[in-house]
Amino acid sequence: MAEPDKPAMAAAAAAGAAKTAGRSGRSTELPEHLKAYKGVWVFIEHDRGQVHTVSWELMGEARKLADKLGVDVSGVLMGGPADKLEDFAKEAYICGADHCYIMRDPVLQGYRNEPYTKGLTDLVNTHQPEILLLGATAMGRDLAGSVATTLGTGLTADCTELNIDGRALAATRPTFGGSLLCTIMTLAYRPQMATMRPRTAPMPRRDESRSGDIITMALGMIETDIVTKLLEFIPDANRNTVNLAYADIIVTGGKGLKNADNFKLVWDLARVLGAEVGATRAVTQAGWCESERQVGQTGKTVRPKLYIAAGVSGAIQHRVGMEASDIIVAINTDANAPIFDFAHHGIVGNALQVLPALTQAFAARLGKQVRKVA
Ligand SMILES: Cc1cc2nc3c(=O)[nH]c(=O)nc-3n(C[C@H](O)[C@H](O)[C@H](O)COP(=O)(O)OP(=O)(O)OC[C@H]3O[C@@H](n4cnc5c(N)ncnc54)[C@H](O)[C@@H]3O)c2cc1C
Repeated sequence: MAEPDKPAMAAAAAAGAAKTAGRSGRSTELPEHLKAYKGVWVFIEHDRGQVHTVSWELMGEARKLADKLGVDVSGVLMGGPADKLEDFAKEAYICGADHCYIMRDPVLQGYRNEPYTKGLTDLVNTHQPEILLLGATAMGRDLAGSVATTLGTGLTADCTELNIDGRALAATRPTFGGSLLCTIMTLAYRPQMATMRPRTAPMPRRDESRSGDIITMALGMIETDIVTKLLEFIPDANRNTVNLAYADIIVTGGKGLKNADNFKLVWDLARVLGAEVGATRAVTQAGWCESERQVGQTGKTVRPKLYIAAGVSGAIQHRVGMEASDIIVAINTDANAPIFDFAHHGIVGNALQVLPALTQAFAARLGKQVRKVA
């Protein structure tokens, strides 16, 4: 791949830095030794033999960023002897990676913050990527924070959009309670780190013809160096099995449904469609359904093929979590409700009448029995 014009970039970075110098008066120009940092990395998260889909979504975003910068994309795979890291690397190439860094060690079998932080920090210090991306999952959030702190660099968490401005990563995320979006740049430190929520970015186009190389590195840590011990994995019997983020169809109910009893109409339609049930924060706060079903800024980000919103106003904090849905159908009594500004189809009407009518119509069409929720 072509090397970018370094002096021009340095000048552009310096010009950008001068413009954005903060009130602290700290230099925002990239120090000379950090200019060697090149390439975009994705930490590939896996657990019990499965790569988290957000890692592939990030790989697609990394490819776009790297193509703008004229650099390569690398996946980072860390794990123990039993983990199929080479298989995951093959999938990484198909999704857009050029290289994979593999660190395998018995103490990396199962995620623990200390060895993963040391491993990822060592990889970064040795190979010097300019951008490092992780999923905004429980593991990604935990690891990104400690790696950024150890490296003394900037981290933008929970991003909804990633772009390149000059040579800098422009990481956008909601702020001020979701009423504004802010774009954050790390100008004087490397790597530039960001976490991105699952489903915020689409899955990349698969290219089965792609391959890449593997660079291995040892961890250099022994079990007695680590305070946290992984004794046993006990699955949480009460673990939420709601798969909203990756559902194809979601029927969401809002406060317009008036009460918990009427919210059952959402379940009736969802059952007939084979859909997941979503809710606004107003609904989860009222206790009409569990908080795992909340869609939005402080809930889940979703991207279904069909999103039916009944009695939902379309507040910005809800919108940011569902506006990437392929088709949005809104049912609302108020023709001026904000949700009609971005819904693809709108029904101005009483959801208490429209939902049962839709349930009956879909049941007839799909040849299904309507099973009422008790
Ligand atoms: C920091 C912060 C984070 C937040 N995070 C989230 C989040 O993650 N997710 C989220 O959803 N919200 C979130 N919110 C709350 C958000 O601002 C809204 O208050 C909330 O989304 C509104 O929920 P709603 O649409 O169900 O209710 P309302 O805003 O009360 O809207 C009800 C709608 O139903 C319509 N309606 C009334 N009767 C009927 C009927 N019979 N049939 C059809 N329509 C009817 C009304 O016209 C109205 O448009 C957050 C707020 C803050 C400050």
